[in-house]
Amino acid sequence: MKKIGVLTSGGDAPGMNAAIRAIVRAGIYNNIEVMGVSRGYEGLINGEIKHMDVSSVADIIHKGGTILKTARSEQFKTEEGRKKAINVLEVFGIEGLVIIGGDGSFRGAEKLSEAGVKTIGIPGTIDNDLPYSEFTIGFDTAVNTVLDAITKIRDTSTSHEKATIIEVMGRHCGDIALYSGLAGGAESVLVPEEEFDINDVCKKLVQGKSRGKLHNIIMLAEGTSDAYELQKEIFERVGIEARVTVLGFIQRGGNPSSFDRILASKMGAYAIDALINGKSSRALGIKNNKIFDMDIAEALTMEKQFDSDTYQLTNILSI
Ligand code: ATP
Repeated sequence: MKKIGVLTSGGDAPGMNAAIRAIVRAGIYNNIEVMGVSRGYEGLINGEIKHMDVSSVADIIHKGGTILKTARSEQFKTEEGRKKAINVLEVFGIEGLVIIGGDGSFRGAEKLSEAGVKTIGIPGTIDNDLPYSEFTIGFDTAVNTVLDAITKIRDTSTSHEKATIIEVMGRHCGDIALYSGLAGGAESVLVPEEEFDINDVCKKLVQGKSRGKLHNIIMLAEGTSDAYELQKEIFERVGIEARVTVLGFIQRGGNPSSFDRILASKMGAYAIDALINGKSSRALGIKNNKIFDMDIAEALTMEKQFDSDTYQLTNILSI
């Protein structure tokens, strides 16, 4: 393997830059030329490709976002679009491609590998919704960002003796709400994976108030319930006013945590080793603190196991 490409695709996630840096540096260390593809699969189709050297990834390990930019490409979902992408890879002499992104990006990687391109997928998404890996790059940073917000919101809700509903991202995955809820001492954690009873939420609010609790934090994962509907329902049932904060895109940004930087660095270097060893169509993951690779198609058919023990723990600790 003489020349490879790297691209970031789908939603950006803190730590993607650390992964790009590791791919470029580990590539150069192994005498492989690394080409950076801008704007994901869309940029690949358009030939937005440039040579990367040691200094093109200097001073980025601590930065959020992705220096390669990211995009979603409808064109790439078509056979014709992918043909163009494959032609571009051939023109540039790129023999292998590392794709940093979420499940959609992995589906794209799978299609490319079916056409003979050697691909390695690195899980980069704040949602932690890839079932085969315990963690994805960006998740830990997003949890810490939410935690920081909880701490700040707690100050004002304590002063006003108010309840707060904090809506966080995650799409169909409640991990951000679950982990930040546990770490932030939330009274209720509402996630799409577990049905919740509004009466339990209200009971905690009433009981908390009667024993003099100064605040009550309800972590709500997007895709579970509408935050404003929930606010209305709580008021109608028990007359308690809850303030709503929807954190939104703040969760995508910021300097990556040490965990994400280390995970990204290890996965980036692992991707180079995998390509050198002739591997293709592999998804990288982490389990029991070890990086591993598995068939990308198989990884995509797996179902996410919700961490119900941790969910139970949040309930126990918030009595
Ligand atoms: P995130 O989880 O952050 O949204 P993602 O990688 O899942 O990231 P998507 O928008 O689903 O984000 O996918 C990124 C890109 O991957 C798409 O814009 C498209 O170009 C490509 N892609 C997605 N699904 C497929 C598919 N079935 N076949 C080919 N390409 C695909």
